[in-house]
Amino acid sequence: MLKGAVKAGAAALIKERDYLSELDAKIGDGDHGLNMARGAQSALEALDEHSGALTVSELIKLVGEAFLMNVGGSAGPLYGSGFIAGAKAIDSSEAALDAKTIGLFLHEFNAAVKKRGKAELGDKTMLDVLIPLEKIFVESEGKPLAELLKVGRETARNAVEYTKELTARRGRASYLGARSVGHIDPGAASAAILYREISLYIEKNFLTPAQPD
Ligand code: ADP
Ligand code: MG
Repeated sequence: MLKGAVKAGAAALIKERDYLSELDAKIGDGDHGLNMARGAQSALEALDEHSGALTVSELIKLVGEAFLMNVGGSAGPLYGSGFIAGAKAIDSSEAALDAKTIGLFLHEFNAAVKKRGKAELGDKTMLDVLIPLEKIFVESEGKPLAELLKVGRETARNAVEYTKELTARRGRASYLGARSVGHIDPGAASAAILYREISLYIEKNFLTPAQPD
């Protein structure tokens, strides 16, 4: 079940707490790691408290609510509404673990983040990782899922690096204007960490892996 994927993603965010906060200390207020670790911890607790089976959509909704209810700052509500919107989209599809469903999920996730935060591609936010990922799955053209997941990891890594070149136009980092250049966006980094863990989990547990990267 995808419960394992949630646990893997949460564990990675908790592990990377200090790294994410250090990134945020450079162009924000230094709490992004704390915020994401709190969201991850709350999601794990919500999973533990929930007895009985959950559909994939219900599981992701639970994660979204955990972020929305327990995490302050801008990233908590943004991730929270993204997960909830993505969960809703999966609910109305057949929820097969394929490129189409992942593309649909990312599309709705990103639409909710854009609506709430008014950011676009190039504004130096989590969307600079999430929009390129959405594109990979939406335009997958029948490629094997293992290959897409791997290409996604490479794309996410590059997208995180690329945020260094961007000037922040949304969120706290935008107060720095041009001085935000040269630094990685913390939300882009957390999005890439989450994607990496979840995609590796899917690959290991549900698919025959492509060549290791
Ligand atoms: P805060 O900025 O309130 O302290 P966090 O530090 O947890 O919240 O999160 C900062 C991250 O949130 C940024 O690095 C960025 O990726 C993301 N972010 C901030 N504002 C927006 C927005 N309007 N749209 C999309 N993402 C945003
Ligand atoms: Mg912050």
